[in-house]
Amino acid sequence: MSDEVQKAKEAAAGDGDGDGEPLTIFDKIISGDIPATIIHDDEFCIAFRDVNPVSPIHFLVIPKNRNGLTQLSKAREDQKELLGHLTYVAQKLGQKECPDGFRLVINDGKDGAQSVYHLHIHVMGGRQMQWPPG
Ligand code: 5GP
Repeated sequence: MSDEVQKAKEAAAGDGDGDGEPLTIFDKIISGDIPATIIHDDEFCIAFRDVNPVSPIHFLVIPKNRNGLTQLSKAREDQKELLGHLTYVAQKLGQKECPDGFRLVINDGKDGAQSVYHLHIHVMGGRQMQWPPG
């Protein structure tokens, strides 16, 4: 089992109601308390390089205001526009950095190998991806 999958099994999922959820490492990146290589910053989201890349290009797109969006399966109707924005930004940056193609991944929950409970889209590229994923 990879370290990342082990971390995912141990990670605590919030209840998704947006109240009193513990701060995640990504909140600290947003606030600037933890350094990250930020490659995009707008009103709604930031994108930054993954600290443990699994491909030559690997960055994450996250909402600035988590507001209960700990994982994709907690998304509410009123967050549809935000989800569209995150996906739009992910593909714009993906095209720029990986003109030959890229992959978006959202891990959800324990079996999805999610380790940080702050919704994030992985954007990976810079090499030939394989299918199926592990
Ligand atoms: P998940 O397993 O939840 O889908 O993905 C979490 C991702 O966040 C992992 O790819 C992991 O390498 C990345 N990550 C965890 N902590 C940090 C950090 O402090 N800084 C950055 N840049 N990435 C992180």
